[in-house]
Amino acid sequence: VFVCFEGGEGSGKSTQSRLLHEALSARGHRVLLTFEPGDTAVGKDVRRIVLSPETGDLDDRTEALLFAADKAEHIESMVRPALERGEVVITDRYVDSMLAYQGAGRVLDAGQLEEVARWATADLRPHLTVLLDLDPAAGFTRFEERDRMEQESQQFHQRVRAAFVALADRDPDHYLILDARAPVEEIHAAVLARLEPLLTQ
Ligand code: C5P
Repeated sequence: VFVCFEGGEGSGKSTQSRLLHEALSARGHRVLLTFEPGDTAVGKDVRRIVLSPETGDLDDRTEALLFAADKAEHIESMVRPALERGEVVITDRYVDSMLAYQGAGRVLDAGQLEEVARWATADLRPHLTVLLDLDPAAGFTRFEERDRMEQESQQFHQRVRAAFVALADRDPDHYLILDARAPVEEIHAAVLARLEPLLTQ
């Protein structure tokens, strides 16, 4: 079973991924908890390049392809092997982040970007994507040091948020949208409840 957490800055993806990892491990599942960008050796370098403010301006397609390269490496070296071993894989960010940040944020063609994402991942799709939806204005209050993307405008992050919601709305069978302002335990319980039928298949 392949589960993704998506959402904007400060929406609690890392907390929820960790809680889910703990809960499923405690029930005896073998679980890989991972994230994008940057959970492989190559990915670490990609992450540094795309997120360091020192990188400065990058061409939008260069940026998209760097994120896509991180994804290809992540899927082939970590995610797919774990799924083949029968493990549950939980990832903090996946394809929707690219469609939202590079597609809607940078304003690249959505259809073309979806093709790139599909190619980079060899069309590996999650069984469930949990979108932790949050107004960017609320997410940002939690940060001091900002990476390259976090330095983008409120409008950029509003476009990102709208894109995440649009992706989720178009495929309700594979998405769970939750209000990121709800209590941590409440969100966690909702995720577990939605996942339950997938785990017993
Ligand atoms: O907090 P997290 O580790 O998820 O940070 C990753 C950063 O990379 C975020 O600032 C996010 O905006 C950015 N990102 C992006 N495009 C992607 C994936 C992540 O801009 N495709």
